[in-house]
Amino acid sequence: MNTDRKPVRVRYAPSPTGDFHVGGARTALFNWLFARHHGGRFILRIEDTDRKRYNPQALQWLLDGLRYLELDWDEGPEVGGGYGPYVQTERLEIYREHCGRLLEAGAAYRCFCTPERLQELARQAQQRGERGGYDRACRNLDPEEAARRAEAGEPHVVRFKMPLEGETTVHDAIRGDITFPNAVLQDTVLMKSDGIPTYHLANVVDDHLMEISHVLRGDEWVNSLPLHIHLYRAFGWEPPVMAHLPLILNPTGKGKMSKREERAPDGSVRPVFVRTFQELGYLPEAMINFLALLGWSYDDKTEIMSRQELIERFTLERVQASPAVWNYDKLDHMNGYYIRQLAPEDLAGRLVPFFEKAGWKADREKVLQIVPLIRERIKRLSDAVAVADFFFLEKLPPYDAAELIPKKGDAAMALAALERGREALGKIEFTREAIEAALRGEAEKLGIKAGQMFHPIRVAISGRKVSPPLFESLEVLGKETSLARIGEAIAKLRGASGA
Ligand code: GLU
Repeated sequence: MNTDRKPVRVRYAPSPTGDFHVGGARTALFNWLFARHHGGRFILRIEDTDRKRYNPQALQWLLDGLRYLELDWDEGPEVGGGYGPYVQTERLEIYREHCGRLLEAGAAYRCFCTPERLQELARQAQQRGERGGYDRACRNLDPEEAARRAEAGEPHVVRFKMPLEGETTVHDAIRGDITFPNAVLQDTVLMKSDGIPTYHLANVVDDHLMEISHVLRGDEWVNSLPLHIHLYRAFGWEPPVMAHLPLILNPTGKGKMSKREERAPDGSVRPVFVRTFQELGYLPEAMINFLALLGWSYDDKTEIMSRQELIERFTLERVQASPAVWNYDKLDHMNGYYIRQLAPEDLAGRLVPFFEKAGWKADREKVLQIVPLIRERIKRLSDAVAVADFFFLEKLPPYDAAELIPKKGDAAMALAALERGREALGKIEFTREAIEAALRGEAEKLGIKAGQMFHPIRVAISGRKVSPPLFESLEVLGKETSLARIGEAIAKLRGASGA
């Protein structure tokens, strides 16, 4: 095979029809890793010939998503390159010319069948339980006659002449040889009546002209392999190495990963689009590590790998043929790990946009103070909004007075703890150590457990029973805000007890 000699040139060739799905991101990543591993080129090509499904937003989502994942492309939109244009609708002349070559060589033919006739044939085929169903009526037309009719303006498509008998065996670098009986193959349309090619023609022509050495793509294209291989043969070209990446199953392992995002009853989303992962605050480091393991492994046990390690270790030999299973818990776990690995300044910088989006004035200094208090408690950057809200909110969300009452205690105990706590905290310099000493001292004097002292104070300043570490939180909040909130809690308790 040609693997060793040709320079490695791989492409990610999405069709901009919708949101950028993580399945696509996995394909992009494997191509990118393969290119970087071999010192080759990673090309981005936009396959936008399906005008009915074209979605103008999709390209932006795609480019933004690739940027977020830091999958930089060496050739393609915005960066150019020596094999452009990289958007297929800008290459229509090239496809028409190549289609002409196939017609000339007798490898393709013009088909004048009306859409109504084709629909009827498809309906009949469906009744028989078959797919496709085109009866190849135009395959036997005299080519000169067909050319004349085309010239006279009669609408037509161009179809590929597939072999009618025998078998086609194709080699897949991941799955090995795959054999298809030719009888099941259709005479697929290469050029539509409006002069726009179908995916198959454009894809093969571009992979050849762009000197793609390896095609790494989703497994849904396996069934197109025989057509593509016959197209290469008809053009007299050598096909690239073909490799179809394993399917991604949803977390149950029973069905394909969903194409849509579903909401759980609690309102949380199960993300499947790259921009949702970004919005929720998954780090690109974690996404890359997680996606790399969807169908590839280094040694069956190493899970955490940096981008650099992945580049060094990535080979096609270790891509599996069997489906991979998506696991949200594993991704969350990895993301938490990568969050904890970040330098505090780095994490602070990444959190600021999330706090700002929540509508808070989040200056970097303050966020930097909060980082050590919350970094262990978040799996996604967006989680920080719920964990750290009380540092930013002017007014705490309402909570029930009963929440202030400590375990094995009552309202009187809570009230005493809050009042004594407020008094003691009012007298000290507001540092972590002094705060702790003061609160512990008051608990002792009151003859209550330290936890019974801390609980009402915690609820008073954060509005919650579970919060980041108490003394540090008080320190960051500052004396004034802390005392004011404790005061509000006291008033709340008094109001509740009617005292
Ligand atoms: N445009 C196709 C897609 O979106 C590309 C398939 C291929 O890589 O050949 O999946």
